[in-house]
Amino acid sequence: MDSNVTKLTAMLYSKVRPDEKQQARFDKFLKNKYGEDIVMEWTESDAFPGGFRLEVGSDIYDWSVGGRFRQLRDTLVKVPTTNGNIIPLLRETINSWTPEAMAEQVGEVKTVGDGIATVSGLDFATYGEILLFADGVRGMVQDIRADEIGCVLFNDDESVTEGSSVKRTGKTAGVPVGEGFLGRVVDALGVPVDGLGEVQASGYMPIETPAPSIIDRQPVDTPLETGIFSIDSMFPIGRGQRELIIGDRQTGKTAIAVDAMINQNGKNCICIYVAIGQKTSTVVQVQQTLKKHGAMDHSIIVTASASDPAPLQYIAPYAGCAMAEYFMNKGKDVLIVYDDLSKHAVAYRALSLLLDRSPGREAYPGDVFYLHSRLLERAARLSDKIGGGSITALPIVETQAGDVSAYIPTNIISITDGQIFLESDLFFEGQRPAVNVGLSVSRVGGAAQTKAMKKATGTLRIDLAQYREMEVFTQFASDLDDQTREQLEYGQGLMRMLRQKQYHPKSQHEQVITLVMALAHTMKGIPVDDVDDFIKGLIEMFETEHQDICTAIDTTGQLDDELKQQIIDISAKYREKFN
Ligand code: ATP
Ligand code: MG
Repeated sequence: MDSNVTKLTAMLYSKVRPDEKQQARFDKFLKNKYGEDIVMEWTESDAFPGGFRLEVGSDIYDWSVGGRFRQLRDTLVKVPTTNGNIIPLLRETINSWTPEAMAEQVGEVKTVGDGIATVSGLDFATYGEILLFADGVRGMVQDIRADEIGCVLFNDDESVTEGSSVKRTGKTAGVPVGEGFLGRVVDALGVPVDGLGEVQASGYMPIETPAPSIIDRQPVDTPLETGIFSIDSMFPIGRGQRELIIGDRQTGKTAIAVDAMINQNGKNCICIYVAIGQKTSTVVQVQQTLKKHGAMDHSIIVTASASDPAPLQYIAPYAGCAMAEYFMNKGKDVLIVYDDLSKHAVAYRALSLLLDRSPGREAYPGDVFYLHSRLLERAARLSDKIGGGSITALPIVETQAGDVSAYIPTNIISITDGQIFLESDLFFEGQRPAVNVGLSVSRVGGAAQTKAMKKATGTLRIDLAQYREMEVFTQFASDLDDQTREQLEYGQGLMRMLRQKQYHPKSQHEQVITLVMALAHTMKGIPVDDVDDFIKGLIEMFETEHQDICTAIDTTGQLDDELKQQIIDISAKYREKFN
C-alpha cells in the first residue's frame, strides 16, 4: 500500500468509551461504508448525552438522544394530514419507526455578509440545494468552488455567524402550490403576505424544472384575448406564447398586463402576476385594481419587492412559474406576467458580484441569458395527451431612452415570440396604449387569431405604416392636395380608433365590427375628436339592434363576406345619421 495515502479517520464522541461489543459494531459499520482503510479515534465529550456522535469527513452520524429525536420528528412531519382521524396513523408511524444510521452532512460557515455565506466542508452539496443554517435560516447553493460553496440566504443573516454549522437538506428549492393560492398575495417562498391567514397548499413543487420537451408540446393555436384593441388586432397572442412588453419607464407596461389579466374574467384562464423589485405600494395598487374589476379570485400575486433581499427577487419568477406549472399540468390555461425582468437581471447581477463571479458586459455575469431563457422556455402549450394545459408568459422589460439594443432587452427579445414596443412619445401625445406599430411584432400569434379577427384586420398594419410615412413627409407642407389630406385624415382616424382607456377591455365583436367599419373608410369626414363618440354609438347600436351579428362573431369566430358586407352597410347607414 502506498504510504503517502493518509488513512481516513473517523472521530467518535461520547461521554463513556464504547465497550468491546460496541467498538466491534462501529468497526463493522465503518468498514462496510468506507472500506478497509479507516481508523477510528475516540474523544470524550459531554455534548452528546445518552449516545454517540460519529464524524467521517463531512458525514455526521448522530446517535445521541437529540439526534434520534430529530429523526423521529422528521418522520412524523411526513405523516400525511388527512381529514380523518390522525391518531392511528401517528401511532402506527411511531411503532414502526427505528433509528437509522443516516449520515448528515454538516459544514461550517466561513464568511457571511450581504445575504451571502461561504461554507466549507460540504463536499457533496449540489447546485440549487437548500442548506439549513443556525436558527432555521435557509439558503440556496449558488456557487460551487474547489474548496468552498457560495450560498445565498433567504432570511435575515443576523443569526448566521462565522464558524456556525450548516446542514445539507438534500432538497432543491421549492414552493407550496395549489388552488388555495388563488386570490392571495404571497412572497417568493410562497408565504402569504396579505394578512389573510395561512394557505392550504395542495403540493410542493421545485422552483426550477426542465421546460416541457418538444414531444410534450403542441403548436399555439388558441387565442389569448387581451381585450386591448391594438394588440388583439395586430399583434395577437396565443395560449402558450411568450410576448415581451417593452418600453421606457411610465409608458403603460404594467397597465397592458393588468388589462390582459382583467380580460380573462370568465375565460377560464388563471393569472399570476410576479412583481420583482417593485415598490410595495405599486403591488398593492395592482392587487386592488384586480380586486375592483373582479379578477383577483382567479389570480395569484407573487411579490419580491425592492426592499426584499436580492436572492428572493432572483427566485420570485421561478416560484411564480412553478405555481403556474401546477395548474398547467392539470390541463388549465395560465397567463403569467413577470414585472419586470430588467429588475430581475439587476438583482441577479448584485448577487453574482457578491459571490465574486467575474462581471461581463454591463457587469452582468456570463449566464444572464440562461437566467431568462430557462424561465421563459417553461411557457408552453402542452399536447392533448398530457392534458393540453398552457402557460402564456408576458415578460416586461424596461428600456432606457428607448434603447432596445441594450444587453438585457436584446437577450429577452431573442428568447420571446415577439414584442409589444411602447413608446414614450406616443404616450405623451395621448396615444395610449402607446404601441409602436412599426417595431412591435407577434411571431406565432397569427395562427391563434380567430378567422373573423384575421379577416377584419385586413390592411390595418399597412395602412398605418403608410400613414406614418406620409405624416413625416407632410409635416412641413402647408397646402396638401385632396387625396393626400384624405389619406392623412384616414390614418389619424385609425390611430384615434386604437386609443383605449385603462380597464375597458374590448370584446371580439366590438373589435371586429369597429375594424370592418373603419377599414371601409366609413369614418371619412368625421373630425378626429368625434371618432370616440362615433364608435361608441355604433357599437351600442349593433348591440341593441343587431344582437345576432354580435353573438355570431363571439361564438363562431367566423366572418364570411356576406356578414362583412352587412356590417359595412349597417355602419354606412349609421354614418349618414351621425353629425
Ligand atoms: P413603470 O415603469 O413605473 O413600471 P409602467 O410602464 O408600468 O411604469 P404604468 O404604471 O402601467 O406604466 O402606467 C403609467 C401611467 O399611465 C399610470 O398612471 C397609468 O394609469 C397611465 N396609463 C397607462 N395606460 C393608460 C391608458 N391606456 N390610458 C390612460 N392612462 C394610462
Ligand atoms: Mg410598471
